[in-house]
Amino acid sequence: MWLLLIVNLAGKAAALVVGWSTPGAALALWFGPDLLLAYHLFAPNAQGLVRMHRRFATARREVWLTIDDGPDPEDTPQILALLATHGAHATFFVIGEKAAAHPHLINAITAAGHEVAHHTHTHPLGTFWCASPGRVARELDAGLAALRAAGVTPTRFRPPVGIKNPWLAAALRTRHLTGVAWSARGLEHWPGDAESVADRALRGLAPGAILLLHEGCGVPAPIRVGAIRRVVDRLHLRGYRCVVPGPEQLAG
Ligand SMILES: [Zn+2]
Repeated sequence: MWLLLIVNLAGKAAALVVGWSTPGAALALWFGPDLLLAYHLFAPNAQGLVRMHRRFATARREVWLTIDDGPDPEDTPQILALLATHGAHATFFVIGEKAAAHPHLINAITAAGHEVAHHTHTHPLGTFWCASPGRVARELDAGLAALRAAGVTPTRFRPPVGIKNPWLAAALRTRHLTGVAWSARGLEHWPGDAESVADRALRGLAPGAILLLHEGCGVPAPIRVGAIRRVVDRLHLRGYRCVVPGPEQLAG
């Protein structure tokens, strides 16, 4: 993170030195580092600010199915049932507020052998990138408290839509949380139906893929749960197992 910030400040200092005698160069020096910083903040798989795992190590036909934005009283029980039919395991990146409202769903997830992970307390989609160190800490700690109250101590974290924050790496480190991104996602709000979501999630399928799908009322009604069902069915047909990797399998 510090390298990015130093480059940013150095660029602005150089722009002031160059001044308006060469406005093109001054503008490039002023805004160029901003674009670099923006890339590492907003590109989900960028690694410059926070290490985010994008794949896991396996030689077998295994993928890591990750489901964000729950728990949801309508969707989560259905998802647990369909995972059970295939003996599939998944990680649920849950929102702290929702976990606090539905602790029995957190218990149901873990009782079925799945992992519960941290997805912030309030899911501050539009403001997480610029949140102060104190606010980042509050998002993490309130979410941890909600999950611990439900009997879970998470070890993995995913920010909303993969958006980072300059203070996130240190905050995760002190709380022993590992950042997890993805290698493919369903993009449920893009045009199409549940089949289209499954197509996107399974594009380039290979062992060690991390698949991102969503649950809850934020998902368009026609594809809620149905998209996850199609992904799990198609993985089964192609001989893939849904597993939750151990820490030693996370690389790159
Ligand atoms: Zn989310």
